[in-house]
Amino acid sequence: MDFIAGSWSETDAPDGAIEDRSPADLSMLLGRFPWAIGQAERAIQAAREAQPGFGALPQQNRARLVRRVGAILKEREEQLANAIALDVGKPLWEARLEAQACAAKAAITADEGLKLVSTFPAAGQGAAECRFRPLGVLAVLGPFNFPVHLPNGHILPALACGNTVVFKPSEIAPHAAVVYGRCLEEAGVPRGAFNLVQGGAAAGAALSAHRGVDGVLFTGSWSVGQAIAKANLGQTKMLALEMGGKNAALVLADADFDKAVSVSVSNAFLNAGQTCSAWTRMLVPRKRQDQVLEIAKRSAAKFKPGDPRSPETRLGPLASAQQRERVRKYIRAGVEQGAQLVTGGPEAPAGLPKGYYVQPTIFAGVKPEMTIAREEIFGPVLSVLPYEDDDDAVRIANDSMYGLAGGVWSGDPAHAERVARRLRTGQVDINGGRFNPLAPFGGFKQSGRGRELGKFGLEEFLEVKSLQF
Ligand code: NAD
Repeated sequence: MDFIAGSWSETDAPDGAIEDRSPADLSMLLGRFPWAIGQAERAIQAAREAQPGFGALPQQNRARLVRRVGAILKEREEQLANAIALDVGKPLWEARLEAQACAAKAAITADEGLKLVSTFPAAGQGAAECRFRPLGVLAVLGPFNFPVHLPNGHILPALACGNTVVFKPSEIAPHAAVVYGRCLEEAGVPRGAFNLVQGGAAAGAALSAHRGVDGVLFTGSWSVGQAIAKANLGQTKMLALEMGGKNAALVLADADFDKAVSVSVSNAFLNAGQTCSAWTRMLVPRKRQDQVLEIAKRSAAKFKPGDPRSPETRLGPLASAQQRERVRKYIRAGVEQGAQLVTGGPEAPAGLPKGYYVQPTIFAGVKPEMTIAREEIFGPVLSVLPYEDDDDAVRIANDSMYGLAGGVWSGDPAHAERVARRLRTGQVDINGGRFNPLAPFGGFKQSGRGRELGKFGLEEFLEVKSLQF
């Protein structure tokens, strides 16, 4: 189902159809979602027509709309969580956290949007008056791993700032996207301000390269991010590309090892390791590796793969067959390149023949040049790398094409902070620091371009215009 110009429709000239099945039980068909490039074009047209009127509304009206969306997302939390869990296989308790985060995001966005726009024209330069203006029509391309939360984090700020949106969800989560779209419809989003079209790579490529789109908010893999950038050469379009990560948790010699190691293992295995900011490399003092492995093995045992609908399950299946194959290939590469397999392995976990399950896997003695230490695996695979001293740890952590996130653990907060300041990543958690929804999130290096969240995140959705008198 697509949502275009305020109504739901299905293409009568499909270019293809998505067969949506539960990754936990492939016999469970969740729906068939036909898609067509023509629908993407219709949606862009609807968004173009709606934008001038929507962009001219008082900021308070759009803030009210975003708050209403938030209230409905809250009311529909359980329905949304169920749809997410079915589509991508994450345990229901994790899907609930995702649904709750969507509603929370709405309130913050409405408040911050208002604050940001009302601070201008305070930043006038000389006699010129400077104002924020919407960018226009924005295409939002979603990933599968947080299939509603991440696009929602782009859609609501885009709307709050007066842009209109065409959202193409991941082809792995079409059902959850429809539940989400119905929440915006129920909130009374004006006709054409928010549109949703289904499809995979071809629909995404057509949408993101379209000249009727003023900006692309993409969250996904590095290779697709590059393809989008190439396809847009010759167009001066805003591209916000949020791509992969190969993040390191640095356990410094003076850390509380029990806490640092167990929290880092949980971080690596959350969402079955399908998290861009997951700490998939654990850097530990060489002399203490054995102690670390004992704690890590114990922590990993708590991540027994199981049915996502069971409240005990902490590790669901991977989201697709392609993901499972990719992860198994990396585990085999780790073994072939001589890393020590501490727990897990490429074989399917016992007793789970029906879904895309992978064992939680830990490698030790991993060298920085090994494939498993360099490439984003996007599965429950943790590499433990020994280091000699702080300088060596910082060097290994920064030796990556990516620079998204990371963590530093030390018994001395000043020591942790000194090390955290040396990491070339967009975000670093110190001693498990709490997630701050107002702090900017985004990557250095090949992890991407652009920031989301808070004031810095909102600026991405706006142009600055100066009037000179
Ligand atoms: P993906 O790149 O395969 O797909 C992302 C989206 O792009 C999907 O909607 C897909 O249909 C679309 N797409 C595919 N080919 C396209 C093309 N040629 N042109 C335009 N659109 C195209 O990513 P995924 O597998 O869904 O998500 C996993 C990746 O996302 C990981 O690399 C992960 O690190 C990254 N990610 C990054 C962040 C971040 O904030 N930096 C957050 C979550 C996920």
